[in-house]
Amino acid sequence: MPAVYAIGDTVASDAWNGQPVPGLAPAAKQGGAYVARVIDAQLRDKPKPPHFRYQHMGSLATIGRKSAVADFGFVRLSGPLAWWFWGAVHVLFLASLRSRVAVAFEWMWAYLTFRRSTRLITGKVD
Ligand SMILES: Cc1cc2nc3c(=O)[nH]c(=O)nc-3n(C[C@H](O)[C@H](O)[C@H](O)COP(=O)(O)OP(=O)(O)OC[C@H]3O[C@@H](n4cnc5c(N)ncnc54)[C@H](O)[C@@H]3O)c2cc1C
Repeated sequence: MPAVYAIGDTVASDAWNGQPVPGLAPAAKQGGAYVARVIDAQLRDKPKPPHFRYQHMGSLATIGRKSAVADFGFVRLSGPLAWWFWGAVHVLFLASLRSRVAVAFEWMWAYLTFRRSTRLITGKVD
């Protein structure tokens, strides 16, 4: 179907220099921006952009309550500093100020109360 696009976690692609694109938020965002450019070109009767190529900006992962690793190739961090960096990056990349404040508050509350932070939606959402 020419007007239907699959991006992000719904698709497997070798657009990382021939390697599989990782199932990460930046990959989904880059896919979204790419499809927007394709649709824009279609609407304006312009040539289609070249094939999608994923740009890897780095890797971040948390380990428990106070440790993380951050690897940007030229700089690598680990431990509590990387943990705070991980949190700040995730909050800053959210779409609106409202989301940033809400998520920062929820994460801080979950951290202080030792509550497991919610990453899955399993019931009715109000
Ligand atoms: C526990 C966990 C931790 C992760 N940690 C990281 C991390 O630290 N860094 C990182 O980069 N990535 C992380 N990821 C991966 C990242 O979350 C995904 O790669 C990214 O969210 C994919 O974006 P997406 O838009 O493809 O899908 P999603 O973000 O899953 O968005 C899909 C949306 O579609 C909605 N939807 C589903 N079905 C329907 C329907 N029938 N009708 C309407 N809407 C629907 C869903 O509710 C959802 O909002 C993590 C994932 C998990 C599960």
